[in-house]
Amino acid sequence: MLNTVVKDIKFPELPYAFNALEPYIDAQTMEIHYTKHHKAYYDKFQAAVKGTGFENMVFGDLLKQISKSPAGVRNNGGGLLNHDLFWNVMSNDGGGEPTGDLANTINNAFGSFEKFKEAFGSAAATRFGSGWAWLIVDGSGNLKVTSTPNQDSPLMDVAEQRGTPILCLDVWEHAYYLKYQNRRPDYIGAWWNVVDWKVVGRNFSKVNG
Ligand code: MN
Repeated sequence: MLNTVVKDIKFPELPYAFNALEPYIDAQTMEIHYTKHHKAYYDKFQAAVKGTGFENMVFGDLLKQISKSPAGVRNNGGGLLNHDLFWNVMSNDGGGEPTGDLANTINNAFGSFEKFKEAFGSAAATRFGSGWAWLIVDGSGNLKVTSTPNQDSPLMDVAEQRGTPILCLDVWEHAYYLKYQNRRPDYIGAWWNVVDWKVVGRNFSKVNG
């Protein structure tokens, strides 16, 4: 998606069935989240760029200068992008721990996998209002845990800490309210069971490769 000209981006497929992440993420939440929220970001993004110079830009280049675009482009473009990564770092074969290079680099950066989980969970739990928690590779190749408000991405020039995201967690209420109501920490705790570390490891290799 990042290497595609904006007007040529297709709405991405959900890589599994709505009920694939049960019981941690319920089928009704997945269906609404993908078919209503994610689809609305896609549709509104395409509407916002239509007839402007933004529609002919490569998406990754647009993100690097998103501060020059209207709020509708920033918010909906981020929503389109962020959910695509989110769906793909989860699967019904998730849980456990990372292996290989990613495991070693997490241990070096955070002390241990458990300490990484604490840092990431804290970023997700303390993000005020709506937003995202991220594991990114920064410009120096270091792993960092960050969070962004709304639909901002670490790939955007507006992000406080910029980098390439390899793992993300959606902490908008629409991501968990049906099953967990106001209990965001319960949602975060359950979510580790669906994180697909094979995918996150591949994302890491692509940045570091
Ligand atoms: Mn969402």
